[in-house]
Amino acid sequence: MTTATTAPAVAHTRSELSAAREALSSRDVAVVMTMGALHEGHAQLIRAARRRHDHVIVTIFLNPLQFGPKEDLSHYPRTFDADMEICTAAEVDVVFAPTPDVIYPEGDPGVRVAAGPLGEVLEGASRPGHFDGVLTVVGKLLHLTAARSAYYGQKDAQQLLLIRRMVRDLDFAVDIVSVPTVREEDGLAMSSRNTYLTESDREVALSLSRALHAGSEAAVYGPSAVRRAARAVLVEEPLALVDYLVLVHPHTLSDVPEWYRGEALLAVAARVGTTRLIDNSPVLVGPGGGALDAFSDVPNASPDL
Ligand code: AMP
Repeated sequence: MTTATTAPAVAHTRSELSAAREALSSRDVAVVMTMGALHEGHAQLIRAARRRHDHVIVTIFLNPLQFGPKEDLSHYPRTFDADMEICTAAEVDVVFAPTPDVIYPEGDPGVRVAAGPLGEVLEGASRPGHFDGVLTVVGKLLHLTAARSAYYGQKDAQQLLLIRRMVRDLDFAVDIVSVPTVREEDGLAMSSRNTYLTESDREVALSLSRALHAGSEAAVYGPSAVRRAARAVLVEEPLALVDYLVLVHPHTLSDVPEWYRGEALLAVAARVGTTRLIDNSPVLVGPGGGALDAFSDVPNASPDL
């Protein structure tokens, strides 16, 4: 790997972004959208984009539209200098870091993207309106960056599914590429919100990835075995307050029936201390079953990861 010493161009406004975009030598641009507080998970997205495109734009934007009134918008970690170091090391061309008034100059937009029924289950059930806010800003950032490809983490499986649906349903001219979840050595899925965890919370939080692992290991025996094995891990950790633990179809997010064999999403959400954590594992249920890195039947799945 080459070590880049050139810092990315930083754009805070729309005109700065246009100028930085115009200065790029080709139109082969990929975007990685983030809320900042970057970690190795984000870095892997950026590196995957870097490998396949001439230019990479990283957006750093805490989107108020996707936070509920009681959520952590005001406490969310802000680490811009460290984020810039990660972007420099990963050879990012442009960092677009707008404030809400740049993205929403007239205040909350009257017209928004509606996520529909897939946005009302799982995360959407606990966070009403969350995915409308996500899709609205993703649509805007795709337009503003004019990227050809956009990279998202499997970590946020429902978000990834909804972005793919939006791009298909509304004919956005962009390739959506997913990157497998990046984990700490002990299995904890990397997340900017992990910084909220105390040392003892962190131990409790490990039960999520352990449950996914146990569920995946039982995949050869069918859906109820997967659910049973995963639940057995979580009941051993009463300090993880489980919101949902589900085995669902990767496209419909409906519970898979007992006869189902094929790819499924094993997903969990739980509160640990004051922090709400999510994690998931793509799973092949049935003969030869087990954990998958990614689903096979999505368009644009990245072949080189
Ligand atoms: P966030 O800053 O949390 O909104 O995340 C920005 C992007 O990074 C989203 O596409 C996430 O799915 C992705 N991401 C976050 N954590 C991870 C992780 N541990 N592994 C892979 N991708 C991740």
